[in-house]
Amino acid sequence: MKTSKKAQSVPPSATIAVTSRAKQLKADGVDIVSFGAGEPDFDTPQFIKDSAVKALDAGKTKYTAAAGIVELKTAIAEKLKRDNGLTYSPDQVIVNIGAKHSIYEAMQATLDDGDEVILPTPYWVTYIETIKLAGAAPVVVRTSKENSYKITPEQLKDAVTDKTAMFVLNSPNNPGGFSYTPKELYALADVLKGTEIIVLSDEIYEKLIYGDTKFISFASLSEDAYNRTLTVNGLSKAFAMTGWRLGYTAGPIEVIKAMGRLQSHMTSNAVTFAQDAAITAINDNSDVVEKMRIEFEKRGKYMVRRLNAIEGVTCHQPTGAFYCFPDVSSHFGRNIGGAQITGSMDFAKALLEQANVALVPGEPFGCPDNVRLSFACSLQEIEKGLDRIEKWLN
Ligand code: PMP
Repeated sequence: MKTSKKAQSVPPSATIAVTSRAKQLKADGVDIVSFGAGEPDFDTPQFIKDSAVKALDAGKTKYTAAAGIVELKTAIAEKLKRDNGLTYSPDQVIVNIGAKHSIYEAMQATLDDGDEVILPTPYWVTYIETIKLAGAAPVVVRTSKENSYKITPEQLKDAVTDKTAMFVLNSPNNPGGFSYTPKELYALADVLKGTEIIVLSDEIYEKLIYGDTKFISFASLSEDAYNRTLTVNGLSKAFAMTGWRLGYTAGPIEVIKAMGRLQSHMTSNAVTFAQDAAITAINDNSDVVEKMRIEFEKRGKYMVRRLNAIEGVTCHQPTGAFYCFPDVSSHFGRNIGGAQITGSMDFAKALLEQANVALVPGEPFGCPDNVRLSFACSLQEIEKGLDRIEKWLN
């Protein structure tokens, strides 16, 4: 059967080769340490699961409004007020099937053929494909290690053309493990003043910030920022609910309505009984999320210390998300254990085959000098994996 040109244009995930090989080796009984995961290793807190079970028992098994139940949209609007100082009415909120769906749908609802979207490196792999699937052209801006891989106001300004329709901002960042400071965000917001550029602010790692980092929503910077921003967030990372597929978007009502029209023909509502559980999670004021954050912070500190102790590896202290993103390029050009290491793809492949550690090459994130290690795994695993990497590189 023929496949569409659109489908053909989407490449297989460049990160999948390493992760599927790691899975295969694991299945063959090899003791693999995996730093590949993009999801918390914690289980969803029990009270959230209980809430879904209760909803199921109460017969909440039918369709809801395509954009989500009003009780959940209200809980999200209240959360955005409480945590982020943002005023959205429930009509300005749509519940999507995971934040990935939020991003896809937001782009489908706002971008046209020929539009340009500014995307700084390192970028989460999905953005570049969703931009293209919306008919737009990604304008990749290469950031520098010296600026902690963050786009500068000058770089943003230089990338703007009369075709620029959107700027994708992801802070805290996957895969970079960094967060923009409020000051940096204000400077970026200043560049956009007087333009029609939409900011897609992906805030999915909002709750996972470390040290003295302060999280601030881009839309809360000013009225100008509020009017141009689509705020994307979800429950996957903060509440360890990746499998529940719950994300949301808040923004100007005309865009949220447009997304709702698309969603009513694409997926309809997020899972009905999961929406009840989402209300329970969002309204929770216990310390479950904070406990997970503290644990991630401990692991991140340990991982970065170990990485920087390895000759030829340099890594910034993670200030958000759960990734270390070291520069390993000084090992490129070496022959390790018979494998020629020309870049991050070879590095990841050889490390997996020879030292049984899985990590993700930086190439597909637009940063070929780096590799991504997730610290969403136990301290013991991190210690074991880092021992192996150190031994392998030495
Ligand atoms: N944005 C970023 C930056 C992510 O890392 C991820 C998950 N890997 C998502 C969005 C999507 O999250 P969800 O599970 O809600 O689709």
